[in-house]
Amino acid sequence: MSEVLQDSKVPVDTDNLVEVTLPTRPACNMCEAVDAAYDGATVYGPWAYMCEPCFGRYGVGLGTGRGQRIATGNPIATGGRQNA
Ligand SMILES: [Zn+2]
Repeated sequence: MSEVLQDSKVPVDTDNLVEVTLPTRPACNMCEAVDAAYDGATVYGPWAYMCEPCFGRYGVGLGTGRGQRIATGNPIATGGRQNA
């Protein structure tokens, strides 16, 4: 185990486009249960909006041509989990 994992933060490569700003946060296309946190390519090929767990499961990473984190200025609703 490591202490790298901290809340919803993920390592980002600032040399690549890793964030996209949307007017509203879409629902996760994979589980359709929570708001999406990422817009990125999936292991299946097509791009999809994904929440954090789904991004970890189906996402291929962050960066140009892979995936972007969704920014709306609004907090992410993750079904109860709160980030300080
Ligand atoms: Zn999901």
